Amino acid sequence: MKLLFAAAEGSPFVKTGGLADVIGALPKALRKNGVDARVVLPKYKTIAQEQVQRMQFITHIEVPMGWRACYCGIFMTEEEGVPTYFIDNEYFFGARDGIYGHGDDEERFAFFNRAVLHILPHIGFQPDIIHSHDWHTGMVAPLLHKHYRHDPFYHSIKNVFTIHNLQYQGVFSHRILGELLELDDSYFRSEGVEYKGGVSFMKGGIQYAEHVTTVSRTYAQEIQTDYFGEGLDGCLRWLGDRLSGIVNGIDQQSYNPATDAALAYRYRSSLNTKRQNKTELQRELGLEQNRRVPMIGMVGRLTAQKGLDLVEHVLGELLEQDSFQLVVLGTGDAVYQDMFRHLAWRYPQRLSAQIRFDEGLARRIYASSDLFLMPSRFEPCGLSQMIAMRYGSIPIVRETGGLSDTVHAYNEYTGEGNGFSFTHYNAHDMMHTIRRALRIYEQPDQWEQLVRNAMSGDYSWNRSAQEYMALYEQVIANPTKLI
Ligand code: ADP
Repeated sequence: MKLLFAAAEGSPFVKTGGLADVIGALPKALRKNGVDARVVLPKYKTIAQEQVQRMQFITHIEVPMGWRACYCGIFMTEEEGVPTYFIDNEYFFGARDGIYGHGDDEERFAFFNRAVLHILPHIGFQPDIIHSHDWHTGMVAPLLHKHYRHDPFYHSIKNVFTIHNLQYQGVFSHRILGELLELDDSYFRSEGVEYKGGVSFMKGGIQYAEHVTTVSRTYAQEIQTDYFGEGLDGCLRWLGDRLSGIVNGIDQQSYNPATDAALAYRYRSSLNTKRQNKTELQRELGLEQNRRVPMIGMVGRLTAQKGLDLVEHVLGELLEQDSFQLVVLGTGDAVYQDMFRHLAWRYPQRLSAQIRFDEGLARRIYASSDLFLMPSRFEPCGLSQMIAMRYGSIPIVRETGGLSDTVHAYNEYTGEGNGFSFTHYNAHDMMHTIRRALRIYEQPDQWEQLVRNAMSGDYSWNRSAQEYMALYEQVIANPTKLI
C-alpha cells in the first residue's frame, strides 16, 4: 500500500499544534506495518537550517495557477525512515516568517494543493491514496477530480481527508475558484465547495474525498450537530458512513520521560524523580521552590476553544483560596495572554506565564506538573492530555471530543481512572473539579495509584494505525462514487 500524507505542518520540521504531531507520527507507525507512507510539506523559512542542509534537491517544475505557471522546487529528506518531500517556492513559503495568517493564504495553499498533485510523476511515486489534512490541503480532492483523473497516472489515486479542527475552514472569495484553482462554477454550489458565498477549502475535502475522518469518535458525532458543526453539520451528516472517527495517538518514543533529553531528571515511574523536575522548573521560572505544592500545567494555544473563559472566571478565586502553582505556556489571543501575564505579576511566586512556543519547556512542564488543565469548549482529539498522562501529570478536562475518549474520571472507591473531568461548560464545575483533584493530591496512596494508572496507559499509534489501514484498504477496494 502506498500513501502520501499532504499537510501544512509536520514534526519535527514545522509545528504549531497537534496536526504536526500526527503528521510526524502516523506515517512512521504505518511504515512499521509495511505501508509505504510518505509525507509532503511546504518548505517554510522557519524550518531549521540543519534540517534544510540534510535535504536533497530533486528537480524543479512549473505548477499551473490560472494564468500563471509558478516555480515549484522539490526537495526530499528521510526522517526516521519516512521519505518527506518539500515544496519550495520562495515567494509563497521561503521569504516570510510564520506559517498561517498571511493575507494571501488562499494563494499559498492553492499552490501547495496543486503542487502536491503535480509533483507525483516527477518524484516517481504513484500513491494509492493521498491523505490530506485540514483545510490547507482540502482542495486536493476537487483538483484531483477536475484536473487529474483523466490522466492514467492519476486514474486510480484516491483521497482521504482528515478534519483535525473544523473551526478553521479556509473560506475565501469566490474569485479564487477560477483564478487559482481553475474550477468552474459547477463546483460552486452548496453540495460543492460553496460556503456562505465564499469558497471553503475545508468543504472541498469533505465533499470530494472518498472518505472523511476526524480525530476521535466523539468529535465525529459532535460535528454532526448544530452546536459543534461550524455550519457544516448538514454536509457531514449527509456523508453517513463515509465519515468516521479514529482517535490520535502520540509518539511514545519521542514523548518518553525515561529518555526525554529536555528534562533535568529522567524517570520511568518514580514520583520522587518527577518532583525533582518540579523543583528544577520552579527554579527555572522563578516560582517558590517547594516540592510539596501541587503544580498545575497548561500548554497550548491560548484561544477560546481551550476553555480559557472558564479559567478567567475563577482563577482569581482559586489563587486566593487554594494552595497550588500554575505554569502556563502558550501563545494566542491577546486577551488571554494579558490575563495570564497580569496574574503572574500579581502572584509571582505561584503563577508563571510563558507566552511563546517552546518545545523543550513544554516537555519540562508535562514532566514537572502534577495536574494538567484542559477545560476545552470543544476538542477534536487533543494530544496534550495524553502527553501529560504519559509524563504522570493528571489531566483535568471537560468531557468533549477526544478528551472524553481518552480521559476516564478517577473513581476513588475502585481506584480506576486516569484523570478528572466535568461535563458542563461551567466555570464553577471546573473549579470544583480542580478542588477535588487538589484534595486527592493530598492523599499519597490514592495519588500514586492515579499516576500509575495514567502512566501505564497505551497512548501509542498502534491501534489507530491498524484502524487507518483497514480504512485505506476499504477505500482502495470500494471507492465511493463521487458527487
Ligand atoms: P491543538 O492541535 O488544538 O493545538 P493538541 O493538544 O492536539 O492541540 O496539540 C497541541 C500540541 O502542540 C502539543 O504537542 C503541545 O505540547 C504543543 N504546543 C502547543 N502550544 C505550545 C507551546 N506554546 N510551546 C510548545 N508546544 C506547544
